[in-house]
Amino acid sequence: MHAALPTPHPAHVPERSCVACRRKRPQAEFLRVTRVGGRWDLRAGHRVGRGAYVCADTPECWQEKRLRRAFRAQAAEIAAQLQTQHAAPQQQSSAPSARVSPEVSHV
Ligand SMILES: [Zn+2]
Repeated sequence: MHAALPTPHPAHVPERSCVACRRKRPQAEFLRVTRVGGRWDLRAGHRVGRGAYVCADTPECWQEKRLRRAFRAQAAEIAAQLQTQHAAPQQQSSAPSARVSPEVSHV
């Protein structure tokens, strides 16, 4: 038998699994949701609390019903945060009040 090097610590690439789809991926491909002070927070620091991970590029994983198992009562809130943070990344340059029609003339 020629034993290949046993790797007791396969942890060099930190892999996480998505709380919604359970897929395993490198940590960099996830959004981290942190539990701080008894609440889940998408924007908390990285070193505090414990984290849960959701695929950063998969909107299906941001649905409330898929998050409920992990976030329970806060699933809707986290789902909303994920969607507002990551939906439509292309529109962030100018005109915060974007509904001004040029046809409207103030006379
Ligand atoms: Zn996922």
